Amino acid sequence: MAPDEKMAPLAEAGSAAATGHGLMAGKRALITGVANERSIAWAIAERFGAEGAELAFTYQGEGMGRRVRPLVASSAKAVIDCDVLRDEDIERAAEDVKRVWDRLDVLVHSIAFAPREALEGRFVEATSRDAWRIALEVSAYSLVGLVRAMRPLMVPGSSILTLTYYGAEKVVTHYNVMGVAKAALECTVRYMAQDLGQDGIRVNAISAGPLKTLAASGIRGMRSMLAENAGKTPLRRNITQEDVGDAALFLCSDLARNVTGEILHVDAGQSIVGAVSM
Ligand code: NAD
Repeated sequence: MAPDEKMAPLAEAGSAAATGHGLMAGKRALITGVANERSIAWAIAERFGAEGAELAFTYQGEGMGRRVRPLVASSAKAVIDCDVLRDEDIERAAEDVKRVWDRLDVLVHSIAFAPREALEGRFVEATSRDAWRIALEVSAYSLVGLVRAMRPLMVPGSSILTLTYYGAEKVVTHYNVMGVAKAALECTVRYMAQDLGQDGIRVNAISAGPLKTLAASGIRGMRSMLAENAGKTPLRRNITQEDVGDAALFLCSDLARNVTGEILHVDAGQSIVGAVSM
Protein backbone atom coordinates (compact mmCIF):
# COMPACT_ATOMS: atom_id res chain seq x y z
CA MET A 1 0.00 0.00 0.00
CA ALA A 2 1.39 3.44 -0.92
CA PRO A 3 2.10 5.74 2.04
CA ASP A 4 -0.37 8.38 0.83
CA GLU A 5 -3.14 5.77 0.68
CA LYS A 6 -2.44 4.96 4.33
CA MET A 7 -2.94 8.60 5.27
CA ALA A 8 -6.57 8.63 4.11
CA PRO A 9 -8.99 9.77 6.82
CA LEU A 10 -10.10 6.84 8.95
CA ALA A 11 -13.81 7.70 9.12
CA GLU A 12 -14.91 7.90 5.50
CA ALA A 13 -18.62 8.19 4.68
CA GLY A 14 -20.29 4.80 4.95
CA SER A 15 -17.41 3.30 6.94
CA ALA A 16 -17.96 1.56 10.28
CA ALA A 17 -16.54 4.60 12.04
CA ALA A 18 -18.97 6.94 10.32
CA THR A 19 -22.02 4.72 10.80
CA GLY A 20 -21.26 3.72 14.41
CA HIS A 21 -21.21 0.00 13.57
CA GLY A 22 -18.17 -2.23 13.56
CA LEU A 23 -16.23 -4.52 15.87
CA MET A 24 -14.73 -1.57 17.75
CA ALA A 25 -17.76 0.74 17.75
CA GLY A 26 -17.94 2.66 21.02
CA LYS A 27 -14.44 1.58 22.08
CA ARG A 28 -11.80 4.13 23.02
CA ALA A 29 -8.27 3.05 22.18
CA LEU A 30 -4.98 4.63 23.20
CA ILE A 31 -2.28 3.75 20.67
CA THR A 32 1.38 4.15 21.63
CA GLY A 33 4.36 3.72 19.29
CA VAL A 34 3.37 5.38 16.04
CA ALA A 35 6.56 6.77 14.46
CA ASN A 36 5.43 6.90 10.84
CA GLU A 37 3.05 5.25 8.36
CA ARG A 38 5.10 2.04 8.40
CA SER A 39 4.73 1.59 12.17
CA ILE A 40 2.86 -1.50 13.31
CA ALA A 41 0.95 0.78 15.70
CA TRP A 42 -0.34 2.81 12.74
CA ALA A 43 -1.66 -0.29 10.96
CA ILE A 44 -3.45 -1.25 14.19
CA ALA A 45 -4.88 2.27 14.55
CA GLU A 46 -6.15 2.24 10.97
CA ARG A 47 -7.85 -1.12 11.50
CA PHE A 48 -9.44 -0.04 14.79
CA GLY A 49 -10.57 3.27 13.27
CA ALA A 50 -12.16 1.52 10.30
CA GLU A 51 -14.14 -0.62 12.78
CA GLY A 52 -15.48 2.39 14.63
CA ALA A 53 -12.99 2.94 17.49
CA GLU A 54 -12.21 6.39 18.86
CA LEU A 55 -8.44 6.87 18.92
CA ALA A 56 -5.83 8.75 20.91
CA PHE A 57 -2.09 8.53 20.37
CA THR A 58 1.14 9.01 22.27
CA TYR A 59 4.48 9.77 20.64
CA GLN A 60 8.04 9.98 21.86
CA GLY A 61 9.27 13.56 22.08
CA GLU A 62 8.90 16.61 19.89
CA GLY A 63 11.08 15.32 17.03
CA MET A 64 8.74 12.38 16.58
CA GLY A 65 5.70 14.58 17.26
CA ARG A 66 6.36 16.68 14.15
CA ARG A 67 5.98 13.54 12.01
CA VAL A 68 3.22 11.86 13.98
CA ARG A 69 0.77 14.77 14.44
CA PRO A 70 0.01 15.29 10.71
CA LEU A 71 -0.38 11.51 10.23
CA VAL A 72 -2.92 11.05 13.01
CA ALA A 73 -4.58 14.48 12.92
CA SER A 74 -7.79 13.43 11.18
CA SER A 75 -8.47 10.51 13.52
CA ALA A 76 -7.14 11.52 16.94
CA LYS A 77 -9.11 12.69 19.98
CA ALA A 78 -5.75 13.46 21.61
CA VAL A 79 -2.09 13.35 20.58
CA ILE A 80 0.15 13.17 23.63
CA ASP A 81 3.90 13.51 24.12
CA CYS A 82 5.07 10.58 26.27
CA ASP A 83 8.63 9.31 26.62
CA VAL A 84 8.18 6.07 28.58
CA LEU A 85 11.60 6.51 30.22
CA ARG A 86 10.02 9.35 32.23
CA ASP A 87 7.47 8.54 34.95
CA GLU A 88 6.18 12.12 34.85
CA ASP A 89 5.38 11.76 31.12
CA ILE A 90 3.41 8.57 31.80
CA GLU A 91 1.44 10.24 34.61
CA ARG A 92 0.74 13.30 32.46
CA ALA A 93 -0.37 11.07 29.57
CA ALA A 94 -2.95 9.45 31.85
CA GLU A 95 -4.19 12.91 32.89
CA ASP A 96 -4.43 13.96 29.23
CA VAL A 97 -6.43 10.84 28.38
CA LYS A 98 -8.78 11.57 31.31
CA ARG A 99 -9.40 15.02 29.91
CA VAL A 100 -10.91 13.60 26.70
CA TRP A 101 -12.37 10.29 27.88
CA ASP A 102 -13.94 9.04 31.11
CA ARG A 103 -13.03 5.47 30.20
CA LEU A 104 -10.36 3.59 28.22
CA ASP A 105 -11.25 0.30 26.52
CA VAL A 106 -8.01 -0.56 24.74
CA LEU A 107 -4.33 0.17 25.34
CA VAL A 108 -1.88 -0.75 22.57
CA HIS A 109 1.78 -0.86 23.65
CA SER A 110 3.96 -0.85 20.54
CA ILE A 111 7.24 0.45 21.92
CA ALA A 112 10.76 -0.97 21.94
CA PHE A 113 14.30 0.33 21.96
CA ALA A 114 17.86 -0.82 22.53
CA PRO A 115 21.03 1.16 21.85
CA ARG A 116 22.27 0.40 18.33
CA GLU A 117 25.68 -0.85 19.53
CA ALA A 118 23.90 -3.54 21.56
CA LEU A 119 22.31 -4.91 18.38
CA GLU A 120 25.52 -5.93 16.65
CA GLY A 121 28.51 -8.04 17.48
CA ARG A 122 28.82 -10.71 20.12
CA PHE A 123 26.07 -10.81 22.77
CA VAL A 124 28.35 -10.79 25.82
CA GLU A 125 30.51 -7.92 24.61
CA ALA A 126 27.60 -5.87 23.26
CA THR A 127 25.37 -6.14 26.33
CA SER A 128 26.57 -3.39 28.67
CA ARG A 129 24.77 -2.62 31.93
CA ASP A 130 23.34 0.52 30.34
CA ALA A 131 22.16 -1.27 27.20
CA TRP A 132 20.44 -3.89 29.38
CA ARG A 133 18.75 -1.27 31.55
CA ILE A 134 17.55 0.88 28.65
CA ALA A 135 16.32 -2.06 26.56
CA LEU A 136 14.44 -3.65 29.46
CA GLU A 137 13.05 -0.35 30.73
CA VAL A 138 11.77 0.94 27.40
CA SER A 139 10.67 -2.36 25.91
CA ALA A 140 9.27 -4.25 28.92
CA TYR A 141 8.93 -2.09 32.07
CA SER A 142 7.07 0.58 30.09
CA LEU A 143 4.11 -1.79 29.71
CA VAL A 144 3.80 -2.02 33.49
CA GLY A 145 4.25 1.73 33.98
CA LEU A 146 1.70 2.65 31.33
CA VAL A 147 -0.85 0.12 32.55
CA ARG A 148 -0.52 1.26 36.19
CA ALA A 149 -1.22 4.84 35.11
CA MET A 150 -4.12 3.98 32.76
CA ARG A 151 -5.77 1.26 34.85
CA PRO A 152 -8.09 3.60 36.80
CA LEU A 153 -9.67 4.41 33.42
CA MET A 154 -10.00 0.79 32.31
CA VAL A 155 -13.32 -0.95 32.86
CA PRO A 156 -14.29 -4.64 32.85
CA GLY A 157 -14.16 -5.82 29.22
CA SER A 158 -11.19 -3.67 28.30
CA SER A 159 -7.96 -5.06 26.91
CA ILE A 160 -4.25 -4.45 26.58
CA LEU A 161 -2.07 -5.49 23.65
CA THR A 162 1.70 -5.47 23.21
CA LEU A 163 4.07 -6.46 20.40
CA THR A 164 6.80 -9.04 20.67
CA TYR A 165 9.11 -11.06 18.43
CA TYR A 166 10.38 -14.64 18.06
CA GLY A 167 13.81 -13.49 19.32
CA ALA A 168 12.27 -13.83 22.82
CA GLU A 169 12.00 -17.60 22.33
CA LYS A 170 14.99 -18.57 20.20
CA VAL A 171 18.30 -16.96 19.32
CA VAL A 172 18.10 -14.58 16.36
CA THR A 173 21.45 -13.20 15.19
CA HIS A 174 21.98 -9.52 16.17
CA TYR A 175 18.72 -9.33 18.18
CA ASN A 176 20.84 -9.72 21.33
CA VAL A 177 19.55 -7.84 24.40
CA MET A 178 16.28 -7.07 22.63
CA GLY A 179 15.55 -10.81 22.79
CA VAL A 180 16.06 -10.67 26.55
CA ALA A 181 13.75 -7.65 26.77
CA LYS A 182 11.06 -9.38 24.70
CA ALA A 183 11.29 -12.48 26.91
CA ALA A 184 10.67 -10.21 29.91
CA LEU A 185 7.79 -8.57 28.06
CA GLU A 186 6.14 -11.91 27.26
CA CYS A 187 6.45 -13.02 30.87
CA THR A 188 5.01 -9.67 31.96
CA VAL A 189 1.97 -10.36 29.75
CA ARG A 190 1.27 -13.54 31.72
CA TYR A 191 1.72 -11.99 35.19
CA MET A 192 -0.32 -8.96 34.16
CA ALA A 193 -3.09 -11.11 32.68
CA GLN A 194 -3.31 -13.05 35.96
CA ASP A 195 -3.34 -9.85 38.02
CA LEU A 196 -5.84 -7.86 35.92
CA GLY A 197 -8.13 -10.76 35.12
CA GLN A 198 -9.97 -10.12 38.40
CA ASP A 199 -10.80 -6.62 37.07
CA GLY A 200 -12.10 -8.08 33.79
CA ILE A 201 -9.12 -6.70 31.85
CA ARG A 202 -7.42 -8.90 29.25
CA VAL A 203 -3.71 -8.74 28.33
CA ASN A 204 -2.25 -10.28 25.17
CA ALA A 205 0.70 -9.99 22.81
CA ILE A 206 1.21 -10.46 19.10
CA SER A 207 4.52 -12.01 18.11
CA ALA A 208 4.94 -10.50 14.66
CA GLY A 209 7.18 -11.77 11.88
CA PRO A 210 9.89 -9.40 10.61
CA LEU A 211 8.70 -6.15 9.01
CA LYS A 212 10.53 -3.18 7.54
CA THR A 213 9.94 -0.39 10.08
CA LEU A 214 12.01 2.32 11.74
CA ALA A 215 12.74 0.13 14.79
CA ALA A 216 13.72 -2.83 12.60
CA SER A 217 16.19 -0.69 10.65
CA GLY A 218 18.35 -0.67 13.82
CA ILE A 219 18.87 -4.43 13.54
CA ARG A 220 21.82 -5.37 11.36
CA GLY A 221 21.05 -7.85 8.57
CA MET A 222 17.30 -7.08 8.60
CA ARG A 223 17.13 -6.71 4.81
CA SER A 224 18.75 -10.10 4.12
CA MET A 225 16.71 -11.70 6.91
CA LEU A 226 13.50 -10.54 5.23
CA ALA A 227 14.60 -11.88 1.85
CA GLU A 228 15.61 -15.27 3.29
CA ASN A 229 12.66 -15.51 5.64
CA ALA A 230 10.06 -15.28 2.88
CA GLY A 231 11.16 -18.61 1.39
CA LYS A 232 11.42 -20.38 4.73
CA THR A 233 8.07 -19.81 6.44
CA PRO A 234 5.39 -22.49 6.08
CA LEU A 235 3.29 -20.03 4.06
CA ARG A 236 6.39 -19.08 1.95
CA ARG A 237 5.94 -15.37 2.48
CA ASN A 238 6.60 -12.48 4.84
CA ILE A 239 3.83 -10.81 6.77
CA THR A 240 2.57 -7.23 6.39
CA GLN A 241 1.64 -4.55 8.90
CA GLU A 242 -1.99 -5.11 7.90
CA ASP A 243 -1.75 -8.77 9.02
CA VAL A 244 -0.86 -7.52 12.49
CA GLY A 245 -3.67 -4.95 12.38
CA ASP A 246 -6.21 -7.69 11.64
CA ALA A 247 -4.97 -9.91 14.49
CA ALA A 248 -4.96 -6.91 16.83
CA LEU A 249 -8.58 -6.24 15.90
CA PHE A 250 -9.48 -9.77 16.97
CA LEU A 251 -7.54 -9.63 20.25
CA CYS A 252 -8.83 -6.20 21.26
CA SER A 253 -12.45 -6.75 20.24
CA ASP A 254 -15.07 -8.71 22.14
CA LEU A 255 -14.46 -11.63 19.75
CA ALA A 256 -11.51 -12.50 22.02
CA ARG A 257 -13.46 -12.00 25.26
CA ASN A 258 -12.04 -15.18 26.79
CA VAL A 259 -8.50 -14.85 25.44
CA THR A 260 -5.91 -13.50 27.89
CA GLY A 261 -2.23 -14.03 28.65
CA GLU A 262 -1.78 -15.22 25.07
CA ILE A 263 1.16 -14.70 22.71
CA LEU A 264 -0.38 -14.94 19.23
CA HIS A 265 2.15 -15.56 16.46
CA VAL A 266 1.42 -13.60 13.28
CA ASP A 267 4.48 -14.80 11.40
CA ALA A 268 3.34 -16.91 8.42
CA GLY A 269 4.17 -19.91 10.63
CA GLN A 270 7.88 -19.12 11.08
CA SER A 271 7.96 -19.99 14.77
CA ILE A 272 6.80 -23.60 14.31
CA VAL A 273 9.68 -24.54 12.03
CA GLY A 274 12.45 -26.71 13.45
CA ALA A 275 14.63 -28.49 10.93
CA VAL A 276 12.90 -29.08 7.60
CA SER A 277 14.22 -29.61 4.09
CA MET A 278 12.44 -28.00 1.17
P1 NAD B 1 8.50 1.69 14.96
O1 NAD B 1 9.88 2.28 14.96
O2 NAD B 1 7.55 2.21 13.99
O3 NAD B 1 7.87 1.76 16.42
C1 NAD B 1 8.66 1.72 17.59
C2 NAD B 1 8.13 2.82 18.48
O4 NAD B 1 8.76 2.80 19.77
C3 NAD B 1 8.41 4.22 17.89
O5 NAD B 1 7.21 4.92 17.71
C4 NAD B 1 9.25 4.89 18.96
O6 NAD B 1 8.99 6.28 19.08
C5 NAD B 1 8.78 4.13 20.20
N1 NAD B 1 9.70 4.34 21.32
C6 NAD B 1 10.99 3.96 21.44
N2 NAD B 1 11.50 4.41 22.60
C7 NAD B 1 10.50 5.09 23.22
C8 NAD B 1 10.40 5.82 24.44
N3 NAD B 1 11.46 5.98 25.27
N4 NAD B 1 9.21 6.40 24.76
C9 NAD B 1 8.14 6.29 23.93
N5 NAD B 1 8.17 5.62 22.77
C10 NAD B 1 9.35 5.04 22.42
O7 NAD B 1 8.74 0.11 14.74
P2 NAD B 1 7.74 -1.13 14.85
O8 NAD B 1 8.46 -2.23 14.14
O9 NAD B 1 6.38 -0.74 14.43
O10 NAD B 1 7.79 -1.48 16.39
C11 NAD B 1 6.62 -1.57 17.21
C12 NAD B 1 6.73 -2.79 18.12
O11 NAD B 1 6.65 -3.97 17.31
C13 NAD B 1 8.01 -2.89 18.92
O12 NAD B 1 7.73 -3.40 20.20
C14 NAD B 1 8.80 -3.91 18.12
O13 NAD B 1 9.77 -4.58 18.89
C15 NAD B 1 7.67 -4.84 17.73
N6 NAD B 1 7.98 -5.77 16.64
C16 NAD B 1 8.51 -5.34 15.47
C17 NAD B 1 8.84 -6.25 14.48
C18 NAD B 1 9.47 -5.80 13.18
O14 NAD B 1 10.06 -6.63 12.48
N7 NAD B 1 9.36 -4.54 12.81
C19 NAD B 1 8.57 -7.62 14.66
C20 NAD B 1 8.00 -8.04 15.87
C21 NAD B 1 7.71 -7.11 16.86
